[in-house]
Amino acid sequence: MSLRVIFLGPPGAGKGTQARELAASSRVPHVATGDMLREAVADKTSLGLEAKRYMDSGGLVPDDVVIGLVGERLEQPDAKAGCVLDGFPRTVAQAQALDALFARKSLTLDRVIYFNVSRPELLRRLTGRRVCRTCGHTYQLVSAPPKVAGKCDVCGGELYQRPDDSEATVANRLDVYEKQTAPLLDYYRERHLLAEISGEGPVAEVARAIRKAVGQPVAR
Ligand code: AMP
Repeated sequence: MSLRVIFLGPPGAGKGTQARELAASSRVPHVATGDMLREAVADKTSLGLEAKRYMDSGGLVPDDVVIGLVGERLEQPDAKAGCVLDGFPRTVAQAQALDALFARKSLTLDRVIYFNVSRPELLRRLTGRRVCRTCGHTYQLVSAPPKVAGKCDVCGGELYQRPDDSEATVANRLDVYEKQTAPLLDYYRERHLLAEISGEGPVAEVARAIRKAVGQPVAR
């Protein structure tokens, strides 16, 4: 069974956590452009150096850069069975490029899951977010803190705050989302692909809503 879905929603809505889980249980790759770009930044590739300028300020990396990155990733053999796209597309131009790519390969997009979370909750989550430098596991200082401060429960790695999770940059990222990404809600609604879920409940409840929306069995 193939699965091709997009997780759409503002930064801090919980897309990454849920995308990792759905991708693993569906045996398809989790394609997160933010993670791919951060890797390129850490490796200091020329793409990473270009992307960093935009990422640090909370703006979007140019469409052609991200479209190229996703195009290459979806050519990999493990993406034959599908993908969970997380953080892509983020603009109408990216959505059109993805449509063209899928059309060329005669693939169909199954669903677009929209994570609805209020702005105050997003601000709270993003500024309190900490990420493990080693395994990427995410914590929330108030609602899901690590057992030992500054250390990852999973692998013992060091926790850090993403530079773009600082208070000043977070506000800009949410504005960029409203202006450039929120128009995609209508784009996919018109194509009858959009399923809206509340991203505010506990992780397991959100996961159940996603399974229902993509037509997978829901465990009780
Ligand atoms: P994320 O981890 O998804 O919050 O992404 C972190 C940053 O990477 C964003 O603020 C953007 O600067 C950049 N980025 C990630 N995905 C995209 C995309 N699809 N288009 C443009 N920029 C992106």
